[in-house]
Amino acid sequence: MEKNLQENFAGEKILVIGAGISGIAAALTAKRMGADVILSDSKSEDKITDDLTALREAGVELLLGPQTEEQLAGITRVIASPAVPCRAPLVQGAFKRGIPVESEVEMAYHLAAAPIYAITGTNGKTTTVTLTGQLFAAKYGREKTGVGGNIGTPLVDEALRIGAEGALVAEISSYQLEATGDFHPRISAILNITPDHLLRHGTMEAYQSVKEKIFAQQSAAEGDFAVLNYDDELTGKSIFRAKEKGIPVCPFSTVDQLAGEKYGSYLKDGRLTIRDEDKEIPLVRQSELNIKGRHNVENALAAAAIAYFGGVEPELIIKVLREFMPVEHRIEPVRELAGVKYYNDSKATNTDSAIKALESFQEPLLLIAGGDDKMTDLTDFMKLVKAKCRKLVLVGAAAERFRNEALKGGIAGSDILEAGYDLAKAVELCRREAKPGDVVLLSPACASFDMFTGFEHRGRVFKEIINGLD
Ligand code: ADP
Repeated sequence: MEKNLQENFAGEKILVIGAGISGIAAALTAKRMGADVILSDSKSEDKITDDLTALREAGVELLLGPQTEEQLAGITRVIASPAVPCRAPLVQGAFKRGIPVESEVEMAYHLAAAPIYAITGTNGKTTTVTLTGQLFAAKYGREKTGVGGNIGTPLVDEALRIGAEGALVAEISSYQLEATGDFHPRISAILNITPDHLLRHGTMEAYQSVKEKIFAQQSAAEGDFAVLNYDDELTGKSIFRAKEKGIPVCPFSTVDQLAGEKYGSYLKDGRLTIRDEDKEIPLVRQSELNIKGRHNVENALAAAAIAYFGGVEPELIIKVLREFMPVEHRIEPVRELAGVKYYNDSKATNTDSAIKALESFQEPLLLIAGGDDKMTDLTDFMKLVKAKCRKLVLVGAAAERFRNEALKGGIAGSDILEAGYDLAKAVELCRREAKPGDVVLLSPACASFDMFTGFEHRGRVFKEIINGLD
């Protein structure tokens, strides 16, 4: 479908489903553009955490509480929030009546005048999107670079803010892709696909095909590119399918130099490198990155490829790659004290993430783990703890199970310390045991709700404790 930049909502009656950040932004935008807008949410008002004042002031009609298909009467278009699955009765009702359904992301796509650089994947989205945003900002400036989507800022707001000349970097979750139809980013990227969100998508095949909607509208057209993970078994298949559609594909890999590929982003002699047909463009050495671990090299390779094929000059890419610091709570350096480095990885709310963090360090570790237990298997995690950590300090509700699993994994009882529900005590125990050259790492492998309001809260409290040490 041709993209209509002047899309106008006048005369439309729009039902926005879901009163979260994206839904509210979509409703306000549609209203501002002349539509009659109703916002429907199955939650009652007291359960909705977002502020509805602006909607009321703008004259958006609110239908809160149990949803019925009567809400679809006279509706010309439905906009679904990311949290609303396609199988939701109201969405199904719209399909039955032939009412077009689009996601907030798609609405942003229709409204955006600047090209969109869209990134999805099971893990690494926030880091890669943030880095990609900084890469484009180095070229266009912050006023002309938008960063939004799943990352907290609604994409529609950013699309309208930046105008035509810059770049719109979009973090897209599989939820957001579900209700997209003609979303057509200039460059798409799939970072990885691992089992997650199966509850909503049913099977791995269904989950993958939703992710592949990110490049469904791309083609051999000028400027289109798909940046896809070569090392990941499932995205390997996506490479094949994208190529079949004629889309120029830039695979990225930390293990292969992609000799047979026309385009690529890979490590060569420890240096991040881009191939653009017969040109090879060396960027920075892996050791120059401030983001740790192989997973972050993958994120940097993907971001560099998006920026390069999006027209950012290599000198700018090199500069930003050297300067980029970890996003808060993701192996974030906090402080060095008495030769001991402290890192906050509070975002590691599961064992996979904590494993990534442990693998990222060569130094002896004192690991603070535990919290709200997700009851996942701990065998591999404890193997790595045994290999890498001098001490394991446990906090929160998961402590007992973690202790038992650690003992089962062959970790000596004397290397397991317990701090109850007291993060300050955990830090104090680490500080007492740490030697110069060691790293104290908070990477809990658990959710945080037994002690905190979320991983951000946990990470901030941890940093306050560390910064208060003398
Ligand atoms: P997302 O927004 O997709 O959750 P983040 O950048 O916040 O991504 O990273 C979340 C966690 O995912 C990190 O703590 C890390 O453990 C893991 N991770 C990050 N990048 C990757 C990657 N490329 N591959 C696998 N795991 C990753």
